[in-house]
Amino acid sequence: MTFEYAPAPESRAIVDIKSKYGHFIDGKFLPGKKHFATINPATEEVLSQISLGGASDVDKAVAAAQKAYTKTWSKLSGKERGKYLYRIARILQERAREFAVLETLDNGKPIRETRDIDIPLVAAHFFYHAGWADKLDYAGLGKSPTPHGVAGQIIPWNFPLLMLAWKVAPALATGNTVVLKPAETTSLTALLFAEVCQQAELPDGVVNIVTGDGSTGAAIVNHPGIHKIAFTGSTEVGKKIARAISGTNKKATLELGGKGANIVFDDAPIDETVEGIVNGIFFNQGHVCCAGSRLILQEGIADELIAKLKIRMSKIRVGDPLDKNTDLGAINSREQLSKIQELATAGDAEGAERWSPACTLSAKGFWFAPTIFTGVTQAHRIAREEIFGPVLSVLTFRTPQEAIEKANNTPFGLSAGVWSEKGSRILWATQQLRAGVIWANTFNKFDPASPFGGYKESGWGREGGKHGLAAYLKEGK
Ligand code: NDP
Repeated sequence: MTFEYAPAPESRAIVDIKSKYGHFIDGKFLPGKKHFATINPATEEVLSQISLGGASDVDKAVAAAQKAYTKTWSKLSGKERGKYLYRIARILQERAREFAVLETLDNGKPIRETRDIDIPLVAAHFFYHAGWADKLDYAGLGKSPTPHGVAGQIIPWNFPLLMLAWKVAPALATGNTVVLKPAETTSLTALLFAEVCQQAELPDGVVNIVTGDGSTGAAIVNHPGIHKIAFTGSTEVGKKIARAISGTNKKATLELGGKGANIVFDDAPIDETVEGIVNGIFFNQGHVCCAGSRLILQEGIADELIAKLKIRMSKIRVGDPLDKNTDLGAINSREQLSKIQELATAGDAEGAERWSPACTLSAKGFWFAPTIFTGVTQAHRIAREEIFGPVLSVLTFRTPQEAIEKANNTPFGLSAGVWSEKGSRILWATQQLRAGVIWANTFNKFDPASPFGGYKESGWGREGGKHGLAAYLKEGK
């Protein structure tokens, strides 16, 4: 006998979405001129109208941030700045459910993840950085390290509020003020965060949020009043930013794409590994820069592991992101869905073998079933390009050296995973892998104290931990 799950939808009554939003500049919401719709990707329902920021809005925001930097924020002690960060962290915890529901509505990710992962990590980032604010002089970051001034921050749609926290918390802790642009499809939680700044009585102009599209992001990057850029997004836009700031004094951290290798040796505990593989690629619909999107399996265990993985994938519940039982939600946008479909079709055409469990996908909204491709070779596009969706490419190896060569055969270098019962083998493999973050016998674990970033085309610099603070500071005078 099998029991079906009863629907367990989270109520959306807790969120109050306005019909239209302006920009948050100098502590106030200012009306925008042009607007675009933001939709719920699970239903295509229009949630609100978001302002399309132009160069004049960015100008106003930078002026407000400069004024706040000179008149208020740079005059406060680290201890005082820390108090504001603690206050923001506590308000985020108090309003956690509201943020979780809003993020799920605007992004399409399951409420289980926004509630248990995104929002707790957001609060953790503010708590962690609050603790640093008054200790910067003693952290080995140079003598009296000083902030850059105004930081321009551009974030993507895959972890909207979490990427805001990764950017805003260290910037404020180190004494910078910010102008932030959320992604076009996911601005709502950043705008709710603006309300938290008001509630925390953060001095006006310390945090400014200008919504918009790529042109708004470019206006921030090119603004002469911005001294530091922090960007997370595609490698393509990261390269444009690197070109735009070359020859200027602007500092930058770029967190870009990835094609993470998850290597499984034949002594790995199979059932635990299957769980880790599922978490590595199907967490957040695979919209994760550090996803374990290339599974590299030792030949002797490949058949057994793939059989078990297919059984486990059949249990992934795809559907209403607000349902507390849902594991895999909606793809964030029609554009992203087309990109995933295009790469999956290339996988078919190049001769890899596609498999997905039977699952009913809603006709409304943007959906893609959890998918694996076996028989993938290194030449296939699905082994080389970032798919940024719930699609796993499986390759095999015979010797440990071959595993490392395959894992490192990528222009990216963001993440990797190693599965083995042998500590010495794990240590050997992690020393050979060219990846900024490597997990052993686990995957996709995040902590504000742990620096995160990549090699090669995965970006410049690190965010999180002491390394992340350094990116927002210059040596003191
Ligand atoms: P983008 O890199 O285009 O977007 C990231 C952010 O940059 C968004 O806020 C975007 O605005 C902004 N932006 C776009 N163009 C410019 C520009 N010229 N100057 C400054 N800022 C700009 O990523 P997409 O959302 O278009 O996603 C495309 C692909 O990138 C995905 O399919 C995925 O493969 C990858 N990606 C990787 C991420 C990662 O964390 N590694 C995160 C997101 C995407 P707007 O949203 O308005 O376009």
